Amino acid sequence: MSTPRPLIAGNWKMNGVEASLDEARAVAAAVDSHPPSARVAICPPSTLIHRLADALAGSGVEVGGQDCRAEASGAFTGDVAAEMLADAGAGLVILGHSERRAGYGETDAVVAAKVEAALRAGLEPIVCVGETLAEREAGDTLAVVTGQVRGSLPAALAGKAFSVAYEPVWAIGTGLTPTLEQIEEVHVAVRAALTEIFGEDGARVPILYGGSVKPSNAAEILKARDVGGALVGGASLKAADFLGIIQAA
Ligand code: PGA
Repeated sequence: MSTPRPLIAGNWKMNGVEASLDEARAVAAAVDSHPPSARVAICPPSTLIHRLADALAGSGVEVGGQDCRAEASGAFTGDVAAEMLADAGAGLVILGHSERRAGYGETDAVVAAKVEAALRAGLEPIVCVGETLAEREAGDTLAVVTGQVRGSLPAALAGKAFSVAYEPVWAIGTGLTPTLEQIEEVHVAVRAALTEIFGEDGARVPILYGGSVKPSNAAEILKARDVGGALVGGASLKAADFLGIIQAA
């Protein structure tokens, strides 16, 4: 496994309609005219994956989903299978986001099953981990985050392309970010857990940081030790903001 490029992934969450495709096209035009050192991906709501994949075909911007179900098909009203994301044109999928863990009670075991589903469908998982404010204040950050890494990453990931996104829950959508020391402390601990699980390959898995990344803080965060990219929510919705982050990588 060679060392992968950093990954800057936009998580549009439940935002985006037809008109948002223009923002994505603007990102792709800029990325294609000045190829950045990082890989770039946009993860829109499921309804837009197909159109976004069409709009960005042949460009340097990849398309991903935001969640999937572990099963490949069946009576699961409202859910989407990894195979369906792939069929619609996604190449990656965000899994275990804290909004899924908190809002839908997704445990590490559920996330691990979804990761296996993503691999089955040929999707590259971005697996999210992160502590709540209460967990940080209790001094449990490293135990919580490394526990999530161990519990959410199935052995089937060995030798496969994937990334881990460290997203402190209290930093998501709040404008708050950890200090660089805090980010590095967690990323180093995640790296240690990854090498413990996957041996040498674990040393090359990109560890993204996510939580209130914006053009003004992206450069210093992306330079921090063991930070291999960013998972960007709010600032990925506007091409100008997202490009500011991409250019900082
Ligand atoms: P934010 O979200 O950049 O809006 O804080 C990040 C995320 O939830 O992935």
